[in-house]
Amino acid sequence: MRQRVLISIGLSSHPKLLIADEPTSALDVTVQKVILDHLESLTTESNTAVIFITHDLGLAAERAENLVVMHRGRIVESGPAREILQDPQHPYTQRLVAAAPSLASQRIQSAVSRGTSLDAEETKGADASVDLVSVAERTVESAGDASTPVIEFRDVTKVFKIRTGGPRSIPFTAVDNVSFQVPKGSTMALVGESGSGKSTAAKLLLRLEDITSGSIHVDGKDVAKLGKQELMRLRSKMQPVFQDPYGSLDPLHNIGNTIAEPLNVHKLGDAASRKARVREVLEQVALPETVLTRYPNELSGGQRQRVAIARALALKPEIVVLDEAVSALDVLVQAQVLNLLAELQSELDLTYLFITHDLAVVRVIADHVTVMQRGKVVEQSTVDEVFDNPKTEYTRELLAAIPGADIPLGV
Ligand code: ADP
Ligand code: MG
Repeated sequence: MRQRVLISIGLSSHPKLLIADEPTSALDVTVQKVILDHLESLTTESNTAVIFITHDLGLAAERAENLVVMHRGRIVESGPAREILQDPQHPYTQRLVAAAPSLASQRIQSAVSRGTSLDAEETKGADASVDLVSVAERTVESAGDASTPVIEFRDVTKVFKIRTGGPRSIPFTAVDNVSFQVPKGSTMALVGESGSGKSTAAKLLLRLEDITSGSIHVDGKDVAKLGKQELMRLRSKMQPVFQDPYGSLDPLHNIGNTIAEPLNVHKLGDAASRKARVREVLEQVALPETVLTRYPNELSGGQRQRVAIARALALKPEIVVLDEAVSALDVLVQAQVLNLLAELQSELDLTYLFITHDLAVVRVIADHVTVMQRGKVVEQSTVDEVFDNPKTEYTRELLAAIPGADIPLGV
């Protein structure tokens, strides 16, 4: 709604040109589609030209007739949108095409359906796409052993009491009878538009909120029934990585202290061994030691996300809960972080609960998918089933909202 208000302000004086700078980058894909459709019909009606600035090439190609690709302050390529998408000339454009999550799922899908290997096809130096494909292949391989769920939700319900200002409160069911199992070493994606209850489910698992009914089991143990010490042990086994680590990393702590914090809280080892562990995880997330003395505001978004992952790994967890962990990153950095997560998963046999509103990312990282709508599970399946054969209208809408989903690619 805030974005719509801005659009109406922008259009109120009947301009000849509207400049929209990442107008929907912070919105989930279904809302994004509604806003951009709205913008398109308004500007067509009033014959207003639009400069649409975005980091997502799929979105750009879907919404614009002509593209101008910029790299380090220079125009490296320009022309009709579809031509550029289907036959990118400059290596940077090729990387953008390869890394756009909105396009990756489609590319993988078309290669799979033709039974060809992408590695052989993508000869345009598109290293990021090879990365994404190898992530997809690896996650299929690592699709865990179904007989040993590490995480199990059984009919989990969470009812919040919403204050009304008066003496009474209204109950609101944010998570409604949700059940799923996550086998060890695999990735469960929890998807749905914003407000569907995904983060609440994560908080229940992490015991940051108490459940109203049902039960959650980790390694077969009911987490609601754990004593204080057992809960502490559980917390070290299960680590969160949230969206926007800029908001979740303490700006007053340097990176070294930030990563060491969980080790200090859990009083693990002595000063020397903690230091060694910090260096070890830093290497695992491919950050140089020079970042240790720096502060969050001195790092890029991708580096901050690596720091958040390093901190999560410090305690050698079995489970990592990633809540919109790559949603705020631009596509190239997103591809790198997804690749890193897949590598860490196979190296360390990690189990991921991967929460996102962006189905494009799901195809490359997840083994199984649980689709939530208004707190309820509406669909649950393997990642291929959900993409190739969606069972519900809601899932089809989420898939259709992936920008660029209906543009034929020249692959
Ligand atoms: P998602 O992560 O899928 O966007 P959330 O789990 O954050 O969704 O929220 C689901 C619903 O529960 C939303 O309508 C939200 O307003 C509501 N909600 C979340 N936390 C609280 C809370 N502490 N009190 C009341 N309502 C809440
Ligand atoms: Mg959320």
